[in-house]
Amino acid sequence: MYSAREDASTFEVNIMSNDGENFAAFNSRALVEMVGDVTDEALKATKLKQFLGVLAGRYFNWAGRKSLFTLHLGIKCCAIEMAAAATPRFDGDRFGVLFRSSPRQSDVLLVNGPVSKKFADKIVRLWEQMPEPKYCIAMGECAISGGPYFQSYNILEGVDTVIPVDVYIPGCPPRPEALIDGFGLLREKIIRIGGAPSTGRDGEKPIIVGDD
Ligand code: SF4
Repeated sequence: MYSAREDASTFEVNIMSNDGENFAAFNSRALVEMVGDVTDEALKATKLKQFLGVLAGRYFNWAGRKSLFTLHLGIKCCAIEMAAAATPRFDGDRFGVLFRSSPRQSDVLLVNGPVSKKFADKIVRLWEQMPEPKYCIAMGECAISGGPYFQSYNILEGVDTVIPVDVYIPGCPPRPEALIDGFGLLREKIIRIGGAPSTGRDGEKPIIVGDD
């Protein structure tokens, strides 16, 4: 007896003997796994896998750093400078500074204002929703240290107390040019670290814009 079943992920064919014994089954997932294993072994044996890994890594690194998607998040007055950076006068798009409204499609979390203790959980959740490799830029004194609210009862003394920061852009507020410069320096860092995940950059010192 022959039967076929199809769902979203597998296509399965069963061939049953007359006494009901299932003596041959063909499952598309099993086939994919088997082909995957064989291909994997062949690639490893010829070092082709290593070569493809290096090539693909370099390509994704190049493509990623040329079009950094930044989460469209504005906290306080520094967000006005962020918006100005995207206007035709400064034209951040030209330098690959693009804004997205979903953390799941973003590479950079740009923190541009004071982070209240109430907001801390939310900003960490946004960070955790972003795919690796991801980067954080602290823009302005509020994001760096709390700014005018330093040691206030409800403001964090810098977003780096909850999220690892890659680039600091000092100023109150920093100008759009400084923001674009910060993205440029982040790009240089990405070339250096080669797309390492945010949890594996312990040896890397954060960049401070204007610190020569
Ligand atoms: S650093 Fe200055 S400009 Fe930026 S959010 Fe804080 S108070 Fe506003």
